[in-house]
Amino acid sequence: MKDLPKDLWHHLAEEDVFEALKSDHHEGLSEQEVEERIRLFGENSITAQKPISPIKRFLLQFHNPLIYILLVATAVTFFLQEYVDSGVIFGVVMINAIIGYLQEAKAEEAINSLKKMMSASATVIRGGKKMTVPATQLVPGDIVQLASGDKVPADMRLFKNRDLQIDESALTGESVAVQKERAELDKDTVLADRVNMTFAGTLVTYGSGMGVVSGTGDDTETGKIAHMISEAVSLDTPLTQKIHAFSKILLYVILVLAGITFFVGLMHGQNWVETFMAAVALAVAAIPEGLPAVVTITLAIGVRRMAIRNAIVRKLPAVETLGSTTIICSDKTGTLTENQMTVQRLFAGDKEYSLTGSGYVPEGEVRNADDQTLDQLPEGLKACLLAGLINNDSELVAEEGFWKVQGDPTEGALITSALKAGLDKEALLKKHERLDAIPFESDRQYMATLHHYDAEHNAIVLKGSLERTLIRCKDAQDEDGNLIDLDRDKITAMADKFAAQGLRVLCLAIQKVPTDETTFDRFLSQEDAEQLTFVGLQAMIDPPRQEAIRAVEACQKAGIAVKMITGDHALTARAIAQQIGINNPDPDAEEHRVLTGRELSEMSDHELLRVVEKVSVFARVAPEQKLKLVTALQAKKHVVAMTGDGVNDAPALKKADIGVAMGIAGTEVSKEAADMVLTDDNFATIEGAVEEGRNVFDNLVKFITWILPTNLGQGMVIMVAILIGATLPVLPVQALWLNMTTAVFLGLMLAFEPKEPGIMKRMPREPDSSILNLEMIGRIFSVSTLLLIGAFGLFQWALIQGETEEVARTLAVTLFVVVQSVYLFNCRSLTVSLFQTPMFSNLWIWAGIGAMLLAQLAFIYTPLMNLLFQSAPLELYHWGMMLVYGLVVLLLVEVEKGIWRAKKARTSKH
Ligand code: ADP
Ligand code: MG
Repeated sequence: MKDLPKDLWHHLAEEDVFEALKSDHHEGLSEQEVEERIRLFGENSITAQKPISPIKRFLLQFHNPLIYILLVATAVTFFLQEYVDSGVIFGVVMINAIIGYLQEAKAEEAINSLKKMMSASATVIRGGKKMTVPATQLVPGDIVQLASGDKVPADMRLFKNRDLQIDESALTGESVAVQKERAELDKDTVLADRVNMTFAGTLVTYGSGMGVVSGTGDDTETGKIAHMISEAVSLDTPLTQKIHAFSKILLYVILVLAGITFFVGLMHGQNWVETFMAAVALAVAAIPEGLPAVVTITLAIGVRRMAIRNAIVRKLPAVETLGSTTIICSDKTGTLTENQMTVQRLFAGDKEYSLTGSGYVPEGEVRNADDQTLDQLPEGLKACLLAGLINNDSELVAEEGFWKVQGDPTEGALITSALKAGLDKEALLKKHERLDAIPFESDRQYMATLHHYDAEHNAIVLKGSLERTLIRCKDAQDEDGNLIDLDRDKITAMADKFAAQGLRVLCLAIQKVPTDETTFDRFLSQEDAEQLTFVGLQAMIDPPRQEAIRAVEACQKAGIAVKMITGDHALTARAIAQQIGINNPDPDAEEHRVLTGRELSEMSDHELLRVVEKVSVFARVAPEQKLKLVTALQAKKHVVAMTGDGVNDAPALKKADIGVAMGIAGTEVSKEAADMVLTDDNFATIEGAVEEGRNVFDNLVKFITWILPTNLGQGMVIMVAILIGATLPVLPVQALWLNMTTAVFLGLMLAFEPKEPGIMKRMPREPDSSILNLEMIGRIFSVSTLLLIGAFGLFQWALIQGETEEVARTLAVTLFVVVQSVYLFNCRSLTVSLFQTPMFSNLWIWAGIGAMLLAQLAFIYTPLMNLLFQSAPLELYHWGMMLVYGLVVLLLVEVEKGIWRAKKARTSKH
């Protein structure tokens, strides 16, 4: 078994393929055989190849302009024989790189493990039965079914093919989908032309088919080139790019300032070693070393919080973008609604009926228009129920008395309705054996099947939307099954009546064809195939999700418009939108209506731009039109989140600022295109993710507002000292100590801040607005100034008191630590008063302050640290002074926050 005819699969005859793989078209492999083969071939997964070597990744940590300065400082101090300084600076650079490396690895791992959570499954035939298994459990010889939207789970040779088209760009780079064929090919056909094979990792964009697995895991074509495909998760986001740009500017500013410092120092007549050290101190102090790492960590924490709330982020930038989302375009069925379909109303044989019971439990009864129970099933009704039962790909299963659908809920409802009326499912399925099928696709809005009917006839059964089905009908049936004229208006009015109640309406039709004339394609692809007999309507309820109602309300309060985009009927869509509370943005306007796909296609881009914001329900929309909608909304400067589940939704998902795929009902193709996947397919999850996104951004702004004064304050202290020719209050190594410890012990803790209560009551953030607003910039400068006054004042005071330089410097450094610890509390909310923020809602803050205190005590009181950092022990009253100053800063910042609040309250009143 181990020596398979590798690389010949496309060349062999079909029988030989099956022979070599010891498999069978219909039966597949037995479970036992599968187990043995798993042992022999291993799991069907590609051995993870480390994309970037750890060493390279580590070295990349140094690839940062700010770090270059530190490296230069290390080298220069070394040549100046300041070995301790040189060693400490280098040590800090190394520690920084190690922390950065570990954090990056952890963030990547987190995202990768999320990816694994969404591992694909495959539909296989084993032991003659169709079943779904994890794609990792496939073995050579397995029979696999492929349908549009699937990701091909392994390499296979095709033996059944209905218009299969596969996007092989991942493998061949060719972007046009490949049309597959059943064929025997030349031995040396190149990979791209092996049309009788499909390859692992490629995407089925159209049609369906079946194949026998010829290679799994590392033996697949994709597995062979896996080392060429970079699996690296990009940790780049718009924000980290902005910070990178900011770092560069900062670098030049610092270099210029350091240059000035150097010359001013020389002019003051200081020796050049000393002035150089001052310039280095300035550079080292002003660089926010911890900034990039903390930003990445904060984003990673956001990813994790979203995962807990069922939103799996596939691309890191989405975490940020979510916070500024202004419009969410959501599918209706399954996302806003429960996808728990129950047929309630029927129109068949020219008569109306209702059905009792709820859910998929096949218990209930049929009642006529006068609400009387039927004693006998009329022929007309029977035909309608039969059509729904046999034109069906789904299954009802009872698990511990609980009835569930395997497959499409719409179809599940049709089975339940037939069973309620007493149809014998097994017998009918056997009698009307299915000969062929065209599966349901959203674009087509119908599904067609061909069945054995009686000795002379086969039957085509069609079910789908009213519009697409009724045009193919030529007559109808009466109550007893006799043919009557087709009254299109009456049927349409009936369907509209159902739809206006929020019911989803399915239209059913049948056509008998003489057996000898039957080739399925001929009847359904022909233009003139309009010979069907209308047999009825089945209208089903699909209740709105309660949590979606709340989530829609929350979004609308948060300034996020919710739009429903659905393939369903306009009236159904409108009724559901009303039940869910989707507001019409402009109730008086002429556009207060539902826009349909047809109207959409007739509109010019210009017209669409005019109305797109005003419409909140789009019905009978084809997936391709979603792209048009996203484009129009983006042209209106919106940040658009768009949901999708089908193959054809992929372009819109890619184009949207946040493409959202469905974890349960979604196709692999849509998941691949998405930025985020919902594991519960629930609209409320999107709202939750937006909330988390806003929180992440808040916390980043809090962190930045907190960290910059450390650097700016120190920079100012050193500048002032040099300009007036005083002794340096902070040495380079001390600046490094300060920057590293406060960022990790204090600043990082802001990443764990819980959401502020009003987070969903304010408008979305403007996407291209700067990260810091005037208020924050003002605060950064004022706190920096307070730091300057405190540290410089304390330093000079200590010298005047006759303290040593070591003590004076230790005081200056510790003042920074104390003020930054206190200011951390101010930054827990940028606007809300500290006294209204719960003290213990973020315990990390307290843990961080505890750790910072221990570190600083070590810095002050241990001989080793005293040696490394030229620090010295302090007296108790020193602490008292610093604490008092800290409290002053705390109160001043709160007063400043209060002034801003008052100002905003005044402007919002006007
Ligand atoms: P949505 O998912 O937005 O509700 P769909 O694209 O799934 O819309 O469905 C569009 C229309 O196609 C429905 O209104 C219904 O009439 C029809 N339809 C839906 N599911 C099926 C199916 N399984 N078979 C046949 N027709 C269907
Ligand atoms: Mg659907």
